[in-house]
Formats: sequence, C-alpha cells, structure tokens
Amino acid sequence: MCGIVGYIGKHEASEILLEGLKRLEYRGYDSAGITLLNNNTFNRVRTPDRVAGLIQLAKNANLQGRLGIAHTRWATHGGICEANAHPHISSDGLFTLVHNGVIENYQKLKDFLLSKGFTFSSETDTETIVNLIAYYYSKQKENPDFSKNSFLESVRKTLNDLEGTYGIAVICKDFPNDIIGARKSSPLLLGVGEQEFILSSDIAAFARRTKNVIYLNDNEIVHVSNQDFTIQTISDKSVRAIIETVEWDGDSADLGIFSHYMEKEICEQPTALLNSMRGRFSDDESTAHFGGLNLSPQELRHVDRILFCACGTAWHACLIAKYLIERFARIPVEVDYASEFRYRNAPLDKNTLFFVISQSGETIDTLSALKEAKRKGYHTLAISNVVGSTIAREANGGIYQHVGPEIGVASTKAFTSQILIAAMIALFLGRLRDLSFEAGMKLVEALKKVPEQVQTILDSRLLIKKHCSQIRSLQ
Ligand code: GLU
Repeated sequence: MCGIVGYIGKHEASEILLEGLKRLEYRGYDSAGITLLNNNTFNRVRTPDRVAGLIQLAKNANLQGRLGIAHTRWATHGGICEANAHPHISSDGLFTLVHNGVIENYQKLKDFLLSKGFTFSSETDTETIVNLIAYYYSKQKENPDFSKNSFLESVRKTLNDLEGTYGIAVICKDFPNDIIGARKSSPLLLGVGEQEFILSSDIAAFARRTKNVIYLNDNEIVHVSNQDFTIQTISDKSVRAIIETVEWDGDSADLGIFSHYMEKEICEQPTALLNSMRGRFSDDESTAHFGGLNLSPQELRHVDRILFCACGTAWHACLIAKYLIERFARIPVEVDYASEFRYRNAPLDKNTLFFVISQSGETIDTLSALKEAKRKGYHTLAISNVVGSTIAREANGGIYQHVGPEIGVASTKAFTSQILIAAMIALFLGRLRDLSFEAGMKLVEALKKVPEQVQTILDSRLLIKKHCSQIRSLQ
C-alpha cells in the first residue's frame, strides 16, 4: 500500500533511505520509520508524523550504517502511533522488517508465536511476520546443517505460512551483508546500482540513483548478499533475473505513466476492489463475512430497518447501498444527509441499524450524526478507508475499505469500493434471511468478477477517449 525502501551498499544508508521516503510521500501515509544496522546494533527511529519529522529525529539520533530499511505506513491493523509504525523488530532482537499489505491469518500465527514465547509490542499484523522469521531461524540454529542460507530459508518458510498480501524488506543481525525482499500482490523492485542495491515499492524512491531495475513478480524472493543477488520463488525454484533499464527520471516516476493522481487512482480500481473483498467471502463461497461488525447473527436477524448517513460522494454510495440491501436482504433502508440527520430528530425504531460511510473517517457532519445516534443508544457501524480515524474509533463496529490513500478529488477508487462493500453487506444480510445458497453463490461469483470487468473497461480507455472527442465534435 504505502512505501518501502531498503539499502545495502558502499554509502551511508540513512540519507538515501530518507530521500527515498520523501519521494514516496505522494502516496499518502500516516507514519514513518527507519532502522539501520551498525556494529551488530539496530538503530531505529519511528514517528506517527511526516517524513520531515522523521528526518529530524534521524539527524538527532545520528543514524549510521550502510544497511537499512525504511517505511511509510498506511495503517490497516492497529492505530496510528509510534509503536505500530514500521520497521518492526523480532522479540529476540535479531530481525527487523518493513511490510506493505495485509496478513489475513495474522491472529492464528500470533497465537502460535505467543505460545512459543515470542512477545509483541504493536497491534500490527506485520509484527507476526518478523517474529515468525525469528521462530524459523531459531529452529534452524538448533540444526547441524545451519548455514549461510538459513536467513533466506527462514524468510521462505515464513512466507509460505502467510495468507494475504505483502511487500517486505528484512535484515538480520547475523548477516550484516545481506538484505532480503519479497512480494505478493504488493509491488517490490530491486534497483541495481554501482556497488549498491536499493529495494523499493516504487521506482520513484531510487530513479535518481540507478536506472537498472528488476521488477519482482508475485511469490518471488530476492536475496542480496555480498554485492550479489539471487531470486527464487517461495516454493524454492530459482528465477532468472531480468534487469530492465527505465527511461524516466525521478520526477515523472511518481505518477508512472499517468498524468495526474485522479487518472492513476481510476486505474488502481481493479486492485482496490480486490483489496476490499480479500478474505471476506466465506469458505463455502455463498456469503460474505466481516470481522469487525461486533454483532452476532442473532442480533443482526433482529434488524428491521437500516439508516445510512453520509455526506458528498459517500452519500451517493449510500443511495446505491439502499437499492442493493433492499433487493437482496429485503430490509428497508433510508439514507440521510449527515448534516441534516443531526438536526431533524428522526424517530428511529429500536431495531434500526445505524451505518455511516466516510472515506477519510474524519467528515465532521458524519461524525456528529454518528455521535447523535450513539447518544440515543443505537449500535453504530462505519465504512471507512482510514484505520484509526475518528469515525472508525467512535463507531461500535465497522468495515475498512483497504484501498490505500486517495489523493485525487473527486473520489474514484474509494467510491467504487464503498459500493462493492455495500453489495457484500446486502449479500451477508440476505443470507441471514431469505437469500438462498444458490443465489448467494451466484452473487459471490459475480462480485469476484468485478475487478476484472473494471480492468476490461480501463483497458479500452484510449478508445473511449477517441469516441468522446468524436461525439463532442458532432455537437
Ligand atoms: N498491515 C500493516 C500495518 O498495519 C502494513 C500497512 C501498510 O501497508 O503500510 O501496519
């Protein structure tokens, strides 16, 4: 989702990593951090603040070393605070790691690691990855065939246990000349420079230092060791690396091939939609489920009316939610403008479910409406894209969109993801009532096809543009 930079080479890493983070700022983030390895010590600074704040902290800490990792975070698990900012360090102190993405089975892995004596100092899913690497490493250390490959093997074993998405960069105190990166549904590239290597989620981070790039594919691990590197898959097959030469410079790289953020975010919709639905369909594929509603099926069966409240674009998403929920779940839905709800003293039935939608989770009128409903004793739910936002914290439960930061106005990928989530709510509530198993399966199948269908339309955008100008010239 947000930004990763890793460095190993002949120069001091701190400035290069921080410059890389500055280049990734355009993606949006809520906190930032950096760790350098020097003389068998991890020196780390993190902040729930801007990169400029991190640069100041790094300066004060006089960070040194030629190997390090840095990160800008867009929180998905755990609020926005220093303890949740990356890099994370394993509880045995041997590994440090940065991660972009979401680990769906982190709770199960965390429980396992707790039972093995590992400890956690954050609420993130990420900390499970670094502790799991440490766990596999400790197992290998007990083995007589412990070798130079043990770091890589521990990472590989860990990745095989993960469900979800990741781009990672990890370093180990026992291997001061190595850095490992890997990806699955989250970008990661290796820049190959003059006696230096830079790992990053975005070429913008290093386009000024080198034009030689290797784009990792899903399920691939790159291991840089002693000024050389190898790539293998997580199932241990070696991969032939193709070094490509990129033409663009650092300034145009931010937007890649796009001319502005709105265009970029429109084109990100297939991935954004996939991220909103990931891990939310049931095993038998006949319904959706959401972890954070905090309502039992019994309580949900008692709901006989839903009131949606929002402002602006999110209000339009509510209007579509009404059609979807009434059609599939047969529950009457009303939609209110948040700014009006607060003042009009609407009579609410005791079995009314109160839902708000806000991309930022900070829309002030929506927040006030939510507080008013809570004051009246209703169970309140929120759909939001920003973890730890005021609305997300204030509501009794909710659903995160996981579409990453949206910079462009008007909303594009956040809006379509809200509609997708509304369809999944309709399916979920419908299956608790009269929607049959077959009808549920059909809906799941149809929803799963949406990202691909959106991609097909996006692939025709040049043709659509051509037709638009033809139509315009007829007017
Ligand atoms: N899931 C991780 C967290 O909440 C990583 C988020 C990101 O992609 O920045 O910390």
